Amino acid sequence: MPKGVAPKPLKDCTVVFVLGGPGAGKGTQCANLVKDYGFIHLSAGDLLRAEQNRPGSEYGDMIRDYIKNGLIVPQEVTIALLRNAMVEAIKQGKPRRFLIDGFPRKMDQALTFEQQVCKAKFVLFFDCPEDVMLNRLLKRGETSGRDDDNVTSIKKRFETFRNTSMPVIDYYALQDKVVTIKSDQPPQKVYEDVKASIEPRIK
Ligand code: C5P
Ligand code: MG
Repeated sequence: MPKGVAPKPLKDCTVVFVLGGPGAGKGTQCANLVKDYGFIHLSAGDLLRAEQNRPGSEYGDMIRDYIKNGLIVPQEVTIALLRNAMVEAIKQGKPRRFLIDGFPRKMDQALTFEQQVCKAKFVLFFDCPEDVMLNRLLKRGETSGRDDDNVTSIKKRFETFRNTSMPVIDYYALQDKVVTIKSDQPPQKVYEDVKASIEPRIK
């Protein structure tokens, strides 16, 4: 896309943003929602990791560096990856209902995405204490192979979440668009709460 030309928003899309600190359970609950409601699940972190590992990617080294340090990758990269994945799903004739997981993590991402891709219908926010998330991430780190599931990176990710991502949730809360779920409980119970809260919103 040449600089200065804003891409056109996608037509007739439903987008739900899924937010919460690292280890809050976003991915787990998205998998449930895909099964029961036919959403397409796009995880910004997964897309960034795939791009990082794509042979020949000009962004690979930069993404690796940002992720390891728990920092937010420049929005252009992440938004292009999400937009491409959405366009691809639409081309394949899939339903235009998207769960966008781990995004927007910074205000600029929120504003640009809503302007250039699609407005969010609402935000599903998984609220979980840091000590619980820390234990989950350390456990996951035993098998995930992720460069950022170690104590040093996790602390940085928490800091970024508090300082940079919470303002995004506050911004949507002011618009009455945030559905908050306490995710410091077993996944099954969290999902019951998710269903009860979102059913009225996704008719
Ligand atoms: O969501 P997940 O924990 O998989 O994200 C891993 C990392 O990817 C984040 O800590 C951050 O470095 C990067 N990321 C980003 N912008 C997003 C989502 C993830 O920079 N919207
Ligand atoms: Mg995830």
